[in-house]
Amino acid sequence: SREWHLLSRPVGWPKSEDFALVEAEIRQPAAGEVLVRNKFLSVDPYMRGRMSAAKSYVAPFELGKAMQGGAVGEVVASAADGIAVGDHVLHFGGWREYATFDAKQAVKVDPDAAPLSTYLGVLGMTGLTAYAGLLRTASFKEGDSVFVSGAAGAVGSQVGQIAKLKGASRVIGSAGSDDKVKLLVEEYGFDAAFNYKNGSVAEQLREAAPDGVDVYFDNVGGDHLEAAIGQLNRDGRIAVCGAISVYNNTEAAPGPKNLARLIQTRGRIEGFLVGDHYDLQPQFVQEVGPWVASGALKYRETVVEGIENNLEAFLGVLRGDNTGKMIVKL
Ligand code: NDP
Repeated sequence: SREWHLLSRPVGWPKSEDFALVEAEIRQPAAGEVLVRNKFLSVDPYMRGRMSAAKSYVAPFELGKAMQGGAVGEVVASAADGIAVGDHVLHFGGWREYATFDAKQAVKVDPDAAPLSTYLGVLGMTGLTAYAGLLRTASFKEGDSVFVSGAAGAVGSQVGQIAKLKGASRVIGSAGSDDKVKLLVEEYGFDAAFNYKNGSVAEQLREAAPDGVDVYFDNVGGDHLEAAIGQLNRDGRIAVCGAISVYNNTEAAPGPKNLARLIQTRGRIEGFLVGDHYDLQPQFVQEVGPWVASGALKYRETVVEGIENNLEAFLGVLRGDNTGKMIVKL
């Protein structure tokens, strides 16, 4: 069984020398454990944070050990009650072909109810992030105009569509290619979208949202956040979900220069972590599951095949190679 180890902590953009794909023995399950053959692995932007030693909300990856991440696989040996060989489970032993772990960390998933990869994306962690961040943190309500960055990504594409389905007056998205912008408007029903690489974010947002924005869902930070504050309406809300534009910075990025606008608008900026919102999971599945099944909410996945390409898939997320959730298929 092969697994990816972190050898050294990347400075700036991660380099292939910081990692190694290592051969490891498959360990049979002890009492209470299961052995799982992974079928789909998740690669997510937050993993960049775990490669650094800096204190954060999850512990850094340990050097010389297998990295971790979301994964869905099939149970091939079980010494745990309630989980049988042949069951499919969502768990945290990603970045490897086989994983042996405490069955309490496994959540059973149904391969007949939805494609297995969707438990990592549209019906999984990134989906709940979109749902909780928009509805709870940003207190979205019908009639709001919503701007979301990273809008063709896993979280962003779902934020925009949920806002639309729940009666947003206008949904605006930004993304890093003209093809992604086209997808947002033509397939996902965004009212306007722009390519942030084509010019000033502030100017393009002003054009796309002439009447301002009530909610900004921030996946990106930097210029995007400053531009959104500049267009914020009275009582506007900004949910800070991520700041991918600064994850590989070696020095602190400058903060937005226009924070005083929050006084005028009585605006609110609030960060959130999906891990604090799992109480919404049943409601999320109940509401979003049928939209996904009926096609009312569309999703894309970018699928990279093979454990040997796990690292490239992760780097691809940071580069923007993905449209929708980036998935590694084994
Ligand atoms: P995505 O599927 O959105 O992939 C990341 C995307 O970021 C890329 O496809 C790329 O698209 C875009 N990107 C990369 N660099 C830049 C840049 N410099 N400026 C603008 N966009 C950039 O990932 P996720 O949906 O999984 O995550 C989206 C955000 O949400 C991330 O910031 C992540 O850290 C955060 N997150 C936060 C959670 C929380 O609990 N708070 C939970 C899950 C995710 P493009 O081509 O458009 O540039």
